Amino acid sequence: MKHDDVFCKIINGEIPCHKIYEDDDVLAFLDISQLSKGHALVVSKKHYDNFLSVPHEEMHKVMDVAQRIGQVSIKFLGASGVNILTNCYESAGQTVMHFHVHVIPRYSGEEKVIEFKNVNTEELNLPSIASTIKNNI
Ligand code: AMP
Repeated sequence: MKHDDVFCKIINGEIPCHKIYEDDDVLAFLDISQLSKGHALVVSKKHYDNFLSVPHEEMHKVMDVAQRIGQVSIKFLGASGVNILTNCYESAGQTVMHFHVHVIPRYSGEEKVIEFKNVNTEELNLPSIASTIKNNI
């Protein structure tokens, strides 16, 4: 099936990018909208909608490249930390429906927390939630 998301177009060479890494299965390039210096995206060349639907082998290849870019960010870009994250579906902030992992270098003195609003834990039935996940994993 043909997909026409922006990352498929980058992979096909229809749209340019600042390429960092490429092999048969994985492409990495700078995010066009830098959340920090060196903010990179690692994508699987084959189309999967997001992390939840990508086969293990390709997921591992993408995560391996993300780890290496994170290490380079610390050693060569001067980052002091890195956020590695992937958004799944719109409610989680996914805007490009093609599996990708963000590598976001963090620099001392520029701390920005990734914010989640707390829900009221006391209103949740944690044993029930835990067993729902445990019984279906
Ligand atoms: P997400 O919100 O997790 O789906 O992330 C999608 C990311 O893709 C955003 O951070 C965008 O800035 C980035 N993006 C969109 N178009 C391009 C492009 N042409 N080249 C590089 N990054 C892009």
